[in-house]
Amino acid sequence: MESSLNAVRRAHDLEDARDEVADLLVIGLGATGAGVALDAAARGLSVVAVDAHDLAFGTSRWSSKLIHGGLRYLATGRIGLARESAAERDLLLRHIAPHLVKAQPFLMPLTPAVSAATARKLMTGYRLGDLLRAAAGTPKKLVPGPSRLGAGAALDLVPALAADGLRGALRSYDGRVVDDARLVVALARTAAGHGARVLTRCRALGLAGDGAEVRDELSGETFTIKARVVVNATGVWAGELAPEIALRPSRGTHLVLREDTLGPLKAGLHVPIPGETSRFLLVLPQSDGHVLVGLTDEPVEGPVPDVADVPESDVASLLGTLNSVLATHVTREQVAGAYAGLRPLIDAGTGRTADLSRRHAVLKGKDGVITVVGGKLTTYRRMAEDAVDAACPQARRSTTARLPLVGATPRGVRAPWRLVERYGSEAEDITALIETNRALGAKVIPGGATTWAELVWAVRHEGALDEHDLLDRRTRIGLIPEDRLSALKVARHVLSLET
Ligand SMILES: Cc1cc2nc3c(=O)[nH]c(=O)nc-3n(C[C@H](O)[C@H](O)[C@H](O)COP(=O)(O)OP(=O)(O)OC[C@H]3O[C@@H](n4cnc5c(N)ncnc54)[C@H](O)[C@@H]3O)c2cc1C
Repeated sequence: MESSLNAVRRAHDLEDARDEVADLLVIGLGATGAGVALDAAARGLSVVAVDAHDLAFGTSRWSSKLIHGGLRYLATGRIGLARESAAERDLLLRHIAPHLVKAQPFLMPLTPAVSAATARKLMTGYRLGDLLRAAAGTPKKLVPGPSRLGAGAALDLVPALAADGLRGALRSYDGRVVDDARLVVALARTAAGHGARVLTRCRALGLAGDGAEVRDELSGETFTIKARVVVNATGVWAGELAPEIALRPSRGTHLVLREDTLGPLKAGLHVPIPGETSRFLLVLPQSDGHVLVGLTDEPVEGPVPDVADVPESDVASLLGTLNSVLATHVTREQVAGAYAGLRPLIDAGTGRTADLSRRHAVLKGKDGVITVVGGKLTTYRRMAEDAVDAACPQARRSTTARLPLVGATPRGVRAPWRLVERYGSEAEDITALIETNRALGAKVIPGGATTWAELVWAVRHEGALDEHDLLDRRTRIGLIPEDRLSALKVARHVLSLET
């Protein structure tokens, strides 16, 4: 398969990348860098893309997994950004990744803390969000409009809500990606399918206008990769390679709850945060049964860590807001996992990080290196297009708006729904693995949904090189430390069989 990534392809591509001069070298394989690799490769450019760790190692795997329709930007009057977000959501839902991106219903519970005037204001906002949907051309059947529900209907959808004083709820819809890390894997593989050399475990040590000094983190060897232009897409780490870039990282924490903690959830929740006017706590049911609860927005000082720690104060503040709308409080002991991501916000000099611009920037350094930073997961494609336009003004126009990612034609696929959501049309290949070897149908952890076959697939086709790639990015078993521990043995066993 041309889009397959694995250790053998990595070795070949690494060798070739050292001998050639690529049209474009992109550093960083989060959503932005993988998007740049795809945009450039699909324009017919020769591309090398490197990441110090793995696909989706950085912020891209720590998101809320929302594909925003732009409503949040309207609240602050950023109409251009709102329209851009709605347009990108439409492309993802309808053309680029219909298997990975779906509509998600949310309830805003009308508790005594939400006045009638506030409820009216919120409903007006949701209606404006619906206008953005219509302007982007997204059919209502894909993303339904908002509605007001009575208390009974709200409790039917989310029985965990406190019924006392509940006047009902406002229901709205937004986009959601099944797994942010899988979106990045699909982008990288689609780029590879267009000829990009996708190299994980290759750290850029220094950039120049015509290439980068790179260290193979597996062999320790250092060498130069030459390119006509270099794009720095290292997110929150961008300033380490381009010192003129000033970022103010902001920590966003999510809690991970097991399926039974809140009981059945047929919708997510928007919960007002006390003292804030346009920020809400999000309760995000995931298709694997976990529920994410997020998110904080706290400035972080000092060197940027590989993986951010979650302070207890974040856990306490998220639990406090969550419990304000629940019949039975969630305790600290019921929090099965927690993770934090760092937003790569561009330093505007003053103000709180929550107020800093979420728009992306494409900046050209004195050495000619292009840095693309800021923005959102939702707008990765637009960021990538802008970066390649700036890096290669002579190249032909971007084609990614209508370019389906690997697996994006799932119609008629005969496989369990859970696999179709994650693998699209390739779900049939996973079931075929199980049909030829029944042992691969076994679950990686007791009571879990992930099969051995998915780990085998990840090694053979998705570039997973070790157990961390398997458990933390190709699957998300690692989100709950207890589950991660019980899956380690199987992950290591699969790797020993496959490598
Ligand atoms: C908590 C949180 C929630 C969010 N939720 C949403 C959401 O719901 N919807 C949405 O649209 N957006 C969301 N965002 C924003 C979105 O996640 C980010 O804007 C986006 O993922 C950034 O992607 P990126 O590719 O630019 O950076 P990253 O994903 O961080 O990728 C950078 C990559 O560069 C690599 N790298 C770093 N240094 C080097 C080097 N020297 N050499 C080689 N590689 C290197 C890293 O390993 C990493 O893989 C959220 C952000 C946070 C923090």
